[in-house]
Amino acid sequence: MELERHEYDVVVVGAGGAGLRAAIEAQESGARTAVVCKSLLGKAHTVMAEGGIAASMANLYPEDNWRVHFRDTMRGGKMLNHWRMAQLHAQEAPDRVRELEDWGALFDRTPDGLISQRDFGGHRFARLAHVGDRTGLELIRTLQQRTVALGIDVYMECTVTRLLTGPAGGGGAGGEQGITGAFGYWRESGRFVAWQAPSVVLATGGIGKSYKVTSNSWEYTGDGHSLALQAGATLVNMEFVQFHPTGMVWPPSVRGILVTESVRGDGGILKNSAGNRFMFDYIPDFFRKETAETEDEADRWYEDKKNNRRPPELLPRDEVARAINSEVKAGRGTPHGGVFLDIASRRTPEYIRKRLPSMYHQFKELAEVDITAEAMEVGPTCHYVMGGVEVDPDTEAARVPGLFAAGEVAGGMHGSNRLGGNSLSDLLVFGRRAGLAAAEHALRRIGRTELADDALADAARAALAPFEREGGENPYTVQQDLQQTMHDLVGIIRTAPEMEQALERIAALKVRVANLSVEGHRQYNPGWHLALDLPHMLIVSEAIARAALERQESRGGHTRDDFPATDSEWARTNLVCSRTADGGVALTRQPLPQMPAELAEIFEESA
Ligand code: FAD
Repeated sequence: MELERHEYDVVVVGAGGAGLRAAIEAQESGARTAVVCKSLLGKAHTVMAEGGIAASMANLYPEDNWRVHFRDTMRGGKMLNHWRMAQLHAQEAPDRVRELEDWGALFDRTPDGLISQRDFGGHRFARLAHVGDRTGLELIRTLQQRTVALGIDVYMECTVTRLLTGPAGGGGAGGEQGITGAFGYWRESGRFVAWQAPSVVLATGGIGKSYKVTSNSWEYTGDGHSLALQAGATLVNMEFVQFHPTGMVWPPSVRGILVTESVRGDGGILKNSAGNRFMFDYIPDFFRKETAETEDEADRWYEDKKNNRRPPELLPRDEVARAINSEVKAGRGTPHGGVFLDIASRRTPEYIRKRLPSMYHQFKELAEVDITAEAMEVGPTCHYVMGGVEVDPDTEAARVPGLFAAGEVAGGMHGSNRLGGNSLSDLLVFGRRAGLAAAEHALRRIGRTELADDALADAARAALAPFEREGGENPYTVQQDLQQTMHDLVGIIRTAPEMEQALERIAALKVRVANLSVEGHRQYNPGWHLALDLPHMLIVSEAIARAALERQESRGGHTRDDFPATDSEWARTNLVCSRTADGGVALTRQPLPQMPAELAEIFEESA
């Protein structure tokens, strides 16, 4: 078999914010590091991030600090977050933003010349460091520049299809099983490549492409979640998928594309077809004390946050997405099945164009709508997965020695619902920690394990199998059927019979995936690439559906029509997914880690 081989201390899979931050830290810690990414460097999901990076820098509100950010994050996640991750995240995010600035990132400024911070749902104070509505671009540009300056090897347009494990050896650990490397292929040539490395950091992002309507791009097929399961690691919180309340609904070709929460943070309001500002009808008791009661109070809040409460449009995303869903279902939706998001009647055209330049162009070019003059039509779109690889909060180590995960592919940090802005800060905080721990793990190993020939041959055989079958299933048809299934049966509002039906369909789709066939050759063949992504999408979909069926309560991103209330027993329980011998998903209930008393006090202080 023709195979290109490389050897490193640390291989990072993914070149978004988490992957690049991990690679920088690993390389700076003395580990020989490589980054592998499916698309071009700089083209990860992170680059699409619009609103900003959440960090309690207190530039606008001196009252803000990590304790308030910690509290907001835990409450936004309905207290299911791993407390230690939420604590580290809140404590370290400001330093990570300052460090980005030291590395050359240019943030928008306050009149005093400090980094400006904007309002987002669920954050008590204006807290998001931003660059207009193109924050992700600046973050990636800065990290990318540093990656290149440090001489880190980058393998672009290269997909990892398998993690390699074996006796990891070295460092006195004897015959301990662990990561030995990774296997993949160049997308352009279809040729195989293997990396021998004692540490692999997964930073592969999300799973949105399992759903029909999503803000995610073609890359987000849950590869890292699936690779981790396959290697013997576990996933946590998979039932929690975030539907962002505001995606474009029209025209059909752009359905799902994100409309940033900054539109609401900067004054935009939601209205139904009767012109009513309906969010006041959907304020849950949990957030009533901190939410404005009248339109007047809500409007005053933009100018005077100390003496007024937040508008209900800025409730956490799960609440707003459910409210929009209810309005549309009740027949009060827009002509294209969404609701109206209006900033035109609330801010001047100059303000809108300055604060939201990307949104202005997005609507102008894609929908022929001028958002400075008319309302946008918006509706929920699958946006983010809270669930991911179960990791140690301090080191991001998964259950398999040598495997680490950071960013959207990791679980625990956001509990049942992520607050906007908390992902970009998560990437920086935990990307850095994962890179550090991965380097330490690798540098502790004194012996290296050769990659086993039979494992490499097996990985190559599996990758080529779709070429060997004739007249089998078409990958695009199977993908469409999976996306429709998840959209119809495991979406925003869930019931047991529907999810049971979804699991039956997923079982049938697995049989079809085992019979996929592709035509042509290995040189840039998108049908073949999709055939290799589909098993990942299926296992992730199964994990979501199984966990969602098991959790008989509603919490955060998981709403059960048949169990509409939160449940005190489930408030103490995580669902952990592992892989069964026959390639399915098994669930285990695990008690939530206990929060220490000094952190629990933060919630009493503000009760
Ligand atoms: P990504 O940036 O998604 O990168 C994943 C990387 O993994 C890519 O390089 C990809 O090529 C690679 N990869 C995947 N599979 C493989 C494989 N098998 N082999 C090799 N490489 C692979 N969050 C915020 O906090 N603030 C915001 O303002 C914000 N706005 C957003 C706007 C949009 C439109 C979207 C879609 C998301 C937004 N988010 C925001 C969420 C946030 O951007 C993402 O959660 C975050 O960028 C994920 O970063 P990551 O590093 O984990 O992965």
